[in-house]
Order: sequence, then structure tokens, then C-alpha cells
Amino acid sequence: MPADLLREVWGFDGFRPGQLEIVEAVAAGRDVLAIMPTGGGKSLCYQLPALMRDGVTVVISPLIALMRDQVRALREAGVAAGALTSGNTEAETDEIFAALREGTLKILYMAPERLASGGTLPLLRRAGVTAIAVDEAHCVSQWGHDFRPDYLRIGELKRALGVPLSAFTATADQETRAEIVTRLFAGQEPVTFLRGFDRPNIHLAFQPKDSPRRQIMEFVAARPGQPGIVYCGSRAKTESLAAALNAAGHAALHYHGGMDPDARREAEARFQREDGLIVAATVAFGMGIDKPDIRWVAHADLPKSIEAYYQEIGRAGRDGLPAETLTLYGPDDIRMRRAQVDEGPADNDRKDADHARLNALLGLAEATSCRRVKLLGYFGDEAAPCGNCDLCDSPPSTFDATKAVQMALSAMLRSGEWFGAGHIIDILTGNETDKIRERGHDRLPTFGVGKDWSKPQWQAIIRQMMGRDLCRPDPARHGALHITGDAHPILRGEISVTLREDSIRRAKPAFVPKM
Ligand code: ADP
Ligand code: ZN
Repeated sequence: MPADLLREVWGFDGFRPGQLEIVEAVAAGRDVLAIMPTGGGKSLCYQLPALMRDGVTVVISPLIALMRDQVRALREAGVAAGALTSGNTEAETDEIFAALREGTLKILYMAPERLASGGTLPLLRRAGVTAIAVDEAHCVSQWGHDFRPDYLRIGELKRALGVPLSAFTATADQETRAEIVTRLFAGQEPVTFLRGFDRPNIHLAFQPKDSPRRQIMEFVAARPGQPGIVYCGSRAKTESLAAALNAAGHAALHYHGGMDPDARREAEARFQREDGLIVAATVAFGMGIDKPDIRWVAHADLPKSIEAYYQEIGRAGRDGLPAETLTLYGPDDIRMRRAQVDEGPADNDRKDADHARLNALLGLAEATSCRRVKLLGYFGDEAAPCGNCDLCDSPPSTFDATKAVQMALSAMLRSGEWFGAGHIIDILTGNETDKIRERGHDRLPTFGVGKDWSKPQWQAIIRQMMGRDLCRPDPARHGALHITGDAHPILRGEISVTLREDSIRRAKPAFVPKM
């Protein structure tokens, strides 16, 4: 029966991976948590069961524009659906109330804000609601980037109505999952589906930042006329980058949370409508975008976690056709992201977890073999080397960097963990600056021990050390590097370290370390 509905109502020939199991569980009235990647086809997983069940299914969704699109599509397919949002005209609202009274409505979309109104619960009771579906369920997480306070009322609504609830999100990390279970299901474990995280058509690539503006411009120039998104770490950068792209002859817009709502809507609409437009944006751009043919996503700055990375690149290639990504990262990104965690309002457990998610992303950036194996491994999926990432395309050469790493760690320790990478490299390469002389660091036993490597090569080594969380910039000490617990076994010579001969372009001739 689900397959018949799928064909008759949606016109699809078959289910995507994972969809049928979820549809069956939801239709059977189980509590369900489904974690599916963006573009995986979540909406079908609550819409189709709504048609199989008696009564009305309420869908809570955070985005008015998306709700309206879905209602329109459902109605065109002949499904009795409506949305109660602040964007409604009075006539639209009256029509929905009438349909609810007559018992003809099957799917009722509702903005979370509506739950705050005292009339909503009696209304839903009278309407004969038999199931709740929650889209973008991670919005219930106070620590997530999309927190919506009204989502906290959903658990209460479920208890008051005594109906099953299905929750959907693309955010896969353990803690968000746990928070969803606590807040939406009152801690009663729902049937959980974690499916289909691979997006094999998306090519994965990272590059250390060398000259970031040029790297982005080259990436874009190689894809003329293709629609894409460049994510930037700051609002100012979205504006300057969009200007530079336009100056280079590409049609580009900027987008960030500081723009007024009309300008934002206009930019979204243009991106959706026009061919081959580029948007330079902060992460504020994306959740409401439903454009299947985005051909590429670039990150001019490192995302904040592996989950954020996955969600952002996941906006490319939803049509299943080849799409490309490029993520730039450098020591400044690592410093900025660490500082954001350390200086944020979270408690210490949470900060540790955020550092760990950042570490997972840095591990992906500094990977030495297939990135997809690592990425899917993080989400609990197994995979074989993919043949569609930069490291499968050209496997990097690696070298035993144990000695170099020991030298760098020891230079940090001996200078009191009070200095940033630049000064540490001056010590290692024996560069007699005023600061070195003032501090007496020319008398340290590590002074000049790393002369065989150039400054760019040391930068690459220290960046990789930061990427592996062997040393961390301390925001309270202007980014001074201190060593972490993971570094001690290396200093003691108990484990060795393999690093990538680097792809930093300035490091010419090619990175060939002399041991
Ligand atoms: P998301 O998981 O991001 O919410 P959507 O529910 O919007 O994804 O689905 C993404 C796209 O995939 C939509 O265009 C939808 O029509 C399409 N889709 C979903 N399920 C199927 C299917 N079984 N067969 C073909 N296309 C599908
Ligand atoms: Zn690969």
C-alpha cells in the first residue's frame, strides 16, 4: 500500500534508501526518530503515513516558506493539506478551520510559535489529531545553531494529545540526538533510524589556506556559470567576496543575518530563480533553500564542526548529479573556532564535546586517506574508498614526522607555552629576532634544531599538529600554543606520528623533509 500511494500521489517509482522502513514505523503509530541527510527525502516519511492513518497529522516545521511550498505541492497532488502560520490571510485560516471542523483535512502544518497560544491545544483536540511530525527536530536543541524556543513545547503537546510523534533531522551527533529524545519523547527511546548518509555524487576536497581569495576565485573560475554557495566566516567577508566575484565577471550576491529580512528574501528568491548565480554567505543561508541543482559549495573558512560541514556541503547536488566542494582551512580558523568554543556560554562538558566535534572536522581536513570513509565513519556508516574525493584522486605522500613533532612540542614547553606558532618557528629555525634575544630563547636547547625545514614547512607541521589536537591555541594568552594530553606519549617516544607532506603551495620546492 505505501508503494501504491508513492506512485499515485507522488509519482515516484520507488523509495529512497531508508524511506520505506520509516514510513512503516510511522504509519504503525510508533514513536520515531529519523536522522537522514539533507535532500534524503524526509518529508515523504511523514506525509505518506499521514495518508495511511485516520485523523489529522500535525507537522511542526520552523520555516514558513517551506511549509507553504509543501502545502502547495501536496494540494496539487490532491492531498488535503493546510498550514497555520503568521503568513496566512484570514480567508486561508478560515478555510483551514472549516476543513478541521468537517474532518476533511489530513495534514496540518503549523509554525512552532503557534504552540504558545492557549487556543491551540483545544483546537487540535477537537480536530482529531492522531499523530505529530516534527521537521528539523534539532531546533529543540538549545546548543544547536537553529534553536527555536517554541520547539520546547512540542513534548508537552505530545503528552497532552497522547499521540505518537515522529521527529526528523539531518543532525546526527550523539548529543543532539539525546537532547531530542529527552525533550520530544520525555526520555522514552523512540525507534531510531540513521540512514543513507552517503551522498556519493558530492566530491569532497580540502585545501590548506595559502592565498584564500585566489583559491576561491580559481575554484569558481573553473566552474563558469554554475550555481554555488561560498560559505564565509564573517558578514564582512561575504560582502567583499561577492564584490570580488562580480568584478571577476561572475554573477554573485552576498547574504548574511545582518541584512534586513526583505533583502534576505530577495537574495534567496534570486538564487532560487536565476541560473548560475553565486551566493557568498554566512551559515544563515541555507536552511530554507530548496534548490536541487546547486553544483558546488565552497567554504572560504573552516566550518565549526563536522556536522555543520556535512549539512552545508549537503546542499550541493540534491538532484543526484555530480557536485563539488572545497573547504579551506588554516591555523587562524582553528584558533577562531577554538576561541568560539572556549569563550561561549556552554558548561565545560559541552565545551569538551564541541572541541571534539571540531577535532573530528580537523581530522577530516588533515586526513591521509579517503575522506568519505572518515566522514561516514563518524556518522556510524561504513564505506569503501570512494574514488570521489581529492585524496582518492591523488593519494598524498606522508612521512614519519615523530622527530619534527617532538621538536615543536619541546620548543613550546621550554618557552613556557607562552607563544604562538610564529615565535615557536623562529626558535626551531634559529631565527634571531629581537623577541628571541629579549627572551633569551637563543639559549634554549631547541634553538635552531629544526633548521632543515623551512618556515612554510614548519607552518604546515604545526597546523597539522593543531589539527590533531596535539597543541591548542589559548585564547586567554593571545593564541599561545599549549600542548594537550595527547602529545605526551609522543614526547615520551611511545607513539609515532605520520603527517602529510604538505600541499601548501608556497612550500617550494616540493615538501621533502630531510631527517
Ligand atoms: P529533505 O530530506 O531535505 O527534507 P525532501 O523531503 O525535500 O528532503 O526531498 C528531497 C527531494 O527528493 C524532493 O525533491 C523530493 O521530491 C525528492 N524525493 C523524495 N523521495 C523520493 C523518492 N522516493 N523518489 C524520488 N524522489 C524523491
Ligand atoms: Zn575517497
